[in-house]
Amino acid sequence: MNKSIIPGDVAKLHPLVCRITAANPGMMTGPGTNTYIVGDSESKLALIDPGPELGEHIDRLIELVKGRLEWIFCTHTHLDHSPASRALQSATGAKILGFGHVPNDGRQDTFFKPDQALGHDDVVDCGAFKIRAVHTPGHASNHLCYLLENKGLLFTGDHVMQGSTVVISPPDGDMLAYFASLHLLSHYSISSFLPGHGHVIDAPREEVIKILAHRLKREQKIIDTLVQVNEGSLDQLVTRVYDDVHEKLHIPAKRSLHAHLLKLLQEGRVSLKDDIWKMNASH
Ligand SMILES: [Zn+2]
Repeated sequence: MNKSIIPGDVAKLHPLVCRITAANPGMMTGPGTNTYIVGDSESKLALIDPGPELGEHIDRLIELVKGRLEWIFCTHTHLDHSPASRALQSATGAKILGFGHVPNDGRQDTFFKPDQALGHDDVVDCGAFKIRAVHTPGHASNHLCYLLENKGLLFTGDHVMQGSTVVISPPDGDMLAYFASLHLLSHYSISSFLPGHGHVIDAPREEVIKILAHRLKREQKIIDTLVQVNEGSLDQLVTRVYDDVHEKLHIPAKRSLHAHLLKLLQEGRVSLKDDIWKMNASH
């Protein structure tokens, strides 16, 4: 059994990796945002996802890495992941790395500006270890997972989370890209996922299959509903497609429904006119 995650505690997960969780628990963040410190007692250190701008969390990280931190990697620029990078940089002088572009959808850390912009499959040599960026759009267009090369550990940020479902919220969230980014992970040799929220996932292949099956089940329900009702707006469709989910959750569910419909639209399976969604003849 996994022990519960206590904010501020240091969990040693691997000879090269420990996890410190920020005290920002919530429906979208599980027990809080995980920050990972990579390196051993002799090496320089890298940090993955510094987290939100929470003084206590930042002070704890500075205390743990002081004098040895060289690299601050960010998986994406949502407010629970990258904002602490600036305070950490001023305290340590470490370099900030991440995807260059920050979209303008009102949910981003717009001050984020990496010292080194990373693209898909870029590898950063950190001396005692190497970190490879894997571009995984879907939850966020600028999302990067980070592979600890030759160790089989993938820091998944919010691409794969443990204990909660990843939110895909258009326009920056993209369901079609999310599916492709999940399939992409099979190209790498991965033994464990280290997610941005929740515990380590030790059966990564099975986890991806489970996530894809869950999403496809919901997509099939959308198709079945559209076939039944012929056409509908998001508001009309959400109550039918999410009749198994409490009404309180219909607002986030609507975003997810929208993301699924946009995927089906890109695949040419549905059409959209004046906010009304309709199944295409040959779906
Ligand atoms: Zn997050």
